[in-house]
Amino acid sequence: MKRALITGVTGQDGSYLAELLLEKGYKVYGLRRRTSTPNYENIAHIRNEIEWVSGDLTDLASLILAVRASQPEEIYNLAAQSFVETSWPQPLLTGQITALGVTNMLEAVRLVSPDARFYQASSSEMFGKVVETPQKETTPFYPRSPYGVSKVYGHWITVNYRESFDMFACSGILFNHESPRRGIEFVTRKVTDGVARIKLGLQSELRMGNLDAKRDWGFAGDYVKAMWLMLQQEQPDDYVIATNETHTVRELLEIAFSHVDLNYEDHVVIDPKFFRPAEVDLLLGDCTKAKNKLGWEQKVSFREMIHMMVETDLARVEQEMKN
Ligand code: GDP
Repeated sequence: MKRALITGVTGQDGSYLAELLLEKGYKVYGLRRRTSTPNYENIAHIRNEIEWVSGDLTDLASLILAVRASQPEEIYNLAAQSFVETSWPQPLLTGQITALGVTNMLEAVRLVSPDARFYQASSSEMFGKVVETPQKETTPFYPRSPYGVSKVYGHWITVNYRESFDMFACSGILFNHESPRRGIEFVTRKVTDGVARIKLGLQSELRMGNLDAKRDWGFAGDYVKAMWLMLQQEQPDDYVIATNETHTVRELLEIAFSHVDLNYEDHVVIDPKFFRPAEVDLLLGDCTKAKNKLGWEQKVSFREMIHMMVETDLARVEQEMKN
């Protein structure tokens, strides 16, 4: 039985990846950070199948113990302070977790299980104020937030450990990926939750920021397969994972509202509070390398995913109203 350790297992990606690895017959270890209120919503259905180990990305000793306890062949580092907006009011915390946390994890692996394969969750936010379009593995980075800057560090330290210590370390540069399990503060989920609440009469308006921002949005369930594929290759390498399509936030609103026969223009109010100090205007990925080398491709389209998210939020909000 292969063993995998996942950090960030209670998050969106961690939950889909844990499902995938359990299906494949892995023993899955999940790094659990102590919280005063439980956050198992995304993994409630598989909670008992995961072997839990305690730790925190900012505490190297805890990571050494976690790697020692799990003896993993594969490690997926998905934990982070992952919300761009929060990275301005909390830049140091973001750096400690999202940047230096990667070094802590790599050190734990190097010291305890140097032959284990390591996946780092890098991000299209590293491209930020893009210097070419579409963005691919060779596109220079120009991050636009403390989050993006931290992810650039995480990316390069992963490459550096591969080159310095001959570790099997890969960095997946994933463009935005969403699902019904996406955190409610991200724009897709904020919109599909808002649509459900407006449709069911719980609210009438949705306050939004920049509707002109463009993102390459894929489905998280498809993207975790790429993470696994990267660790099954003969050589460690870095890959862009994307849909090769870009859409504005406005298109997202149109698709989500029209799915329940509403017009977004009747409900959306622009609120300067949701504009960012520096914006990433356009992301569009080119995942040719992943297609050719990993044989990876997306299955769920942007429209299908937004419909899925609206349907799930409608059912959830309806259930909440009954309770
Ligand atoms: P990000 O790409 O990791 O920052 O993912 P988000 O889902 O948080 O944001 C995607 C884009 O949507 C950004 O360009 C935001 O400026 C834009 N956006 C517009 N209105 C909102 C909003 O109300 N909330 C969020 N989270 N993003 C918004």
